[in-house]
Order: sequence, then C-alpha cells, then structure tokens
Amino acid sequence: MKKYSLIIVCFISLTVFAQEEKTIYDTFFSDPDKEIPVPYLEGQKAQKFYTSYKNANNFLAVLAEKHPDIIKISNIGETQRGKKIPMVMLSLKNDIPDAEKIRVTYIAGVHGNEPISSDGLLYLIHELIEKDEYKQLLEKVILQVLPIVNVDGRSINSRASNNGTDLNRNLNMLSVPETVNLRNAINLFDPQVVVDFHEFNPSRKDFKEMNDCLTSGIDAQFLFTGNLNVAPGIREMIETDFVEPTKLVLKNNNRTVANYSSTFWSGQSLHLNLGAISSRSSATNYALQNRISILMELRGVTEREKMVKRRIETSFLAATSYLSIVNKKAHEIKKTVVDANEATINNMRPIVVSSNAEIIEGSYRFVNTCTNETEIIYFETKNNLKHTAVKTRERAAGYVLVSKNKHVVEVLQNSGIVMSKLAKPTLLELQAYKLDNKNVPYLISTPFKLPAGAIIINTKQKMGNLLVDLLEPELSNSLVANKTLKKIKGTDLIGLFRINKNQLLQLQNIK
Ligand SMILES: [Zn+2]
Repeated sequence: MKKYSLIIVCFISLTVFAQEEKTIYDTFFSDPDKEIPVPYLEGQKAQKFYTSYKNANNFLAVLAEKHPDIIKISNIGETQRGKKIPMVMLSLKNDIPDAEKIRVTYIAGVHGNEPISSDGLLYLIHELIEKDEYKQLLEKVILQVLPIVNVDGRSINSRASNNGTDLNRNLNMLSVPETVNLRNAINLFDPQVVVDFHEFNPSRKDFKEMNDCLTSGIDAQFLFTGNLNVAPGIREMIETDFVEPTKLVLKNNNRTVANYSSTFWSGQSLHLNLGAISSRSSATNYALQNRISILMELRGVTEREKMVKRRIETSFLAATSYLSIVNKKAHEIKKTVVDANEATINNMRPIVVSSNAEIIEGSYRFVNTCTNETEIIYFETKNNLKHTAVKTRERAAGYVLVSKNKHVVEVLQNSGIVMSKLAKPTLLELQAYKLDNKNVPYLISTPFKLPAGAIIINTKQKMGNLLVDLLEPELSNSLVANKTLKKIKGTDLIGLFRINKNQLLQLQNIK
C-alpha cells in the first residue's frame, strides 16, 4: 500500500448540527434556490445528466430568433464525425465602436465528459440577452462563445474526441479538425481574453487511494500559466486582475476555491502539481499568444445529477465576474495586450529553455464523506506558478526549416505564424542542431546549402512566443521533441536552423 506525504491533518468541526442523514451535498454543496432556464433543467432530458447537443442548438436558435440584434449563431467547422461545432457571437449596438471593444472568448465542452461547463455558458448567454442587469456586461465587450467544442466525445460521455485525441493536449500539434477549427476561429476573432471552462473529478483515484472517504472540498479551481516565455505583463494581469477578484466573487457566494492542482506519485508519496506551463493546453497556449488566458476547473465529471444548479451557477458567477472586470479595466487590458504584442515584435527577450518549479508545502481542501467534515491535507507541492529559469538561449532573428513533412508547415500555418519560402538554393554558415546519444539537442555551427522552398520565419512577429515554443528543439513541446520535425535525409542535422538578422534579410530578399 502506498503512503502519502501527509504532514498535518486538521479537522474543522462543521458537523455539530449535522444530522445523520445529511450528505456532503446538503452540508457543503447545496443547490441555489433559483430558476436556471437551461433545457436540461426545464425538463428536456434527451441526455441523462445535462442538455443535449440538439437541445442546446434549439435553445440558442430560439434566442437568436428573438434577439437578432444581440446574438448571432454560426459554426466554426465540423468535428471528426461531421457534427457542426456551434459558435455564438454576442454584442450590443451602442455608442462604442466595435473596434474599441474588448474581444472575449468563452470555450466549453472541450472534454466530452464535462458537459455542465456547456450548460453554464448556455445560462450565461440567456441572462446576458434576457436580463438588463446582465446585458450591461456587454457594454464594452464582444463575446465569442464556443459552448460545445467536442461534440463527438460529448455524445458518448468521453473526455477524448472521436479518434481518442485529448483536445486540450493538442493545442500545439493541432492534429485533429476540432483543434484546427478552434484555433482558426480564435485567430480570426483575435480575443484579448480567453476563458476555457472545464470540470474536474472531485473523487480522483489518487485521493481514494489515500482514504476511500475523501472527495475534493472545492467548487472551482483556477488554472493559469507559470510559463516563463509568456509575456510577464500578461501573466501578472491574469493573476492579479482576473483570478484574484473572481475568487473573491465566488467566495462571497459561498463557494470554496483554489488554484488548480493535479496529483502525482513520486516514489511512495503523493504530491500536488500546482498550475501549469505546458503549451499543449489552453491555459498556457493562449497566454503564449499574448492573450489573458484562464482555464476554469469546476467541480463535476463524476457528479452527474448532483448539484447541477450549483455547478451551473458557479460557472455563471465566474463568467460574469470576468466580464465585469473587462468592462471596468478595458483600457488596462487593451494596453497590456498591445504592450505584450509590441514587446514580442520588438524585444529579444531570451528564451527560457529549461526551468525549475518552486517546491512548497501546499494544501488541499477535502470533505470526508464518512464524517461529513472538512479536512485540510498538506502535500509537498510542485508550484508551477513560480518557475526559475535554469537555462536560457538568446532569441534568434529567425529560423529556416527544411522538412519534407507536410504537417510541419500545417502546424505553423494553423498556429497563425507568418512564413515565407526561399526562392533559390543558398549556401550559408548556419547555427544548426544535432542530437547527442541521449537524443538531447545541442547547437553547432556549420556551412549548409539551404534548398529552394525552405521555410523562412522571422521571429519578430505577434505569435513570436508561440513560435519559439514550437521551434526551439530543447523545449518539451517543440516539433522536434514531438518527433514531427526530424533529421534532414542523408545528414545528422535536424531540419531547423537559427539565423541572424543579416542572414534573415539576405534570405528574404533572394528573388
Ligand atoms: Zn477538462
């Protein structure tokens, strides 16, 4: 039997008045006493525990017919099984020109077994349109809502998409239509703020292994990035201006909140992994694109028919809090994003190729289903919100790619990265990468004749932080690390060269 790094357990006595028949739902997660007019709660139970895809589409169509001035429905393309992925655009006609409004994107249902995230956004859309007190949240906002991204997975209550791909681990590789369509829709809209609504499983296996009675005591967790290649101003604004005030709103509404942590075993002890830095997932990927990016993890997955109203209301509270922040801080948000874009284009901030997370004593709030009490347990925690750079590399002025793999160009194109092609074969002294006997990339300098058609990429572009993440071979989610970009045939060089400013100009000007 595994042990875990339990340091202190403290019991908070909340059971003095608890009757024996009271469940944790009565004590800690009671449903609000209010009407939430989403199809599932209105008795349309085509799906067992949530609103079905068809009923969601009908619900939106009725709203669009009634209020064509505020809401427009379309789709962003199809899933692997040919289902249309719905998109809802919401905006008010007022004195503020559209170009001056803040563009906000809300996403839900990326994981098919997290359906209440979608119901939460249906409720939001309804209230924004039907109630004046909420309508004003659209004053300075154009809102793009993608309420059900993984339509195929949802129909069979599966986290993954039809071919087994986890869509929120595919945002760097973009190898399935759902993520390509999602990326295109977001790049086209170009939001300053992206919030991706998910659900977490409160009764995860690792908790059960510690104690069968333990379930999470949390309503909502906030996941945001600690990746050091994200513009510092973006990272700061996410935490200070969006996450912290929204936590307060939820707390004031009797919700327990925390920064998101997952669990992992190291040897015989269980640890927490707080925050995230991986560009495969939305929290970091959109932040690398200089967008304010948050992933909301709401209590759910295995909760099924339990506390449905509470969970829908929790997403609604978070979603309205973010909109209210956007209205209040529209000017600062615009400036933060513009500054981050300018810095990405003009500054040559070194690339962090490896970093270490701070190790802290973190805590997790549980409820014990056997005693109906709260338990706080402390774990050794990898704090990904605080990384320290271990190794940095100067940013190259540009890259040249030599690859016969079509997917390499597709990934870059779909990521919104601007490229050009080399017109004629050209011999240059270049910085190139080789792999050592442990497959670790290292830099060398070598003469190489670049073929016509080689891809030229200027690092100084808006997507500069994302392109560095995809291209620098030492980064853990790069095209080289993923084995998409391989050695050039007949050589031991990886098909990627770093070039300086003069070389970039020279190659771009060859006609
Ligand atoms: Zn999820």
